[in-house]
Amino acid sequence: MTPLETKFKQTLEKINLDKKDKILVALSGGKDSTVTAYLLKKFGYNIEGFHINLSMGDYSKKCLNAAKELCKQLDIKLYLYDIKKEMGNSMCYIRTAIQTNQGKGLKNCAICGVIKKWIMNREARKLKVNKIATGHNLDDETQTFLMNIFKGSPQLSANLGAITRNVKNAKFIARIKPLFYIAEDDIREYSKIKKLPVVYEHCPCALDSYRIQMRKFVNTLTTKEKENIMKNFGRLSPNIQKLKSDEKLNFCEACGEPSRKKICRMCSLIKK
Ligand code: AMP
Ligand code: ZN
Repeated sequence: MTPLETKFKQTLEKINLDKKDKILVALSGGKDSTVTAYLLKKFGYNIEGFHINLSMGDYSKKCLNAAKELCKQLDIKLYLYDIKKEMGNSMCYIRTAIQTNQGKGLKNCAICGVIKKWIMNREARKLKVNKIATGHNLDDETQTFLMNIFKGSPQLSANLGAITRNVKNAKFIARIKPLFYIAEDDIREYSKIKKLPVVYEHCPCALDSYRIQMRKFVNTLTTKEKENIMKNFGRLSPNIQKLKSDEKLNFCEACGEPSRKKICRMCSLIKK
């Protein structure tokens, strides 16, 4: 077993992932979610793929093809969600409309992230899976943890981790991040060695300047340093939990999805 495979397996053991669980892997077409699906399948987990076609021109076409090819190679089912068909417009259009309406300087990736999470939870529930797996890696999580510290809002890291914790809500599907402890460079290399169908280019709309700035900084760190930052996170996590407001996860009054506020983040974005 390669060191990456060993770390992956250890993470699954740490979160007690059950072989009986039905897991929906959120496939973007990028290297991280592709490696996530490849390894979950290799280790004998019960997985299916889920891809959201964001209808962002050529980039989305390549991502869709990569997800299809991967599922063919792994011999797993792929569920497709076409944002244009389901929501009437492409992600670019929806996002721009939100930014025009709300005018709060909302970042592209933040809006897209909220919409994707909302779709994933809803569709995963319809498909009656037990878990959603995403490709978030050590670099992503280190960036997020540091961004929250730099913003002076450590409580925003309360839900960070290889598995969503303590969320009791009948409509909420637990999310896992099997690559939580694995560095991006190692994942890229692994995906190339295994010749997996991957779109290596970045999303053309990923223009969140703060995250880009943090990514540049995190890229200057060694894997050991990134691991150390997240070890700090692990140690601080019980205290970070205490900073979290104790709003219970309820149901959104507009769409019925799980939400901490009366109206969920998705519905507050799309309100007129
Ligand atoms: P991102 O929000 O682009 O950083 O992606 C984080 C994770 O969300 C990826 O590793 C995937 O697991 C998932 N994801 C992102 N985009 C899509 C998509 N279009 N369809 C399905 N899952 C996605
Ligand atoms: Zn809602």
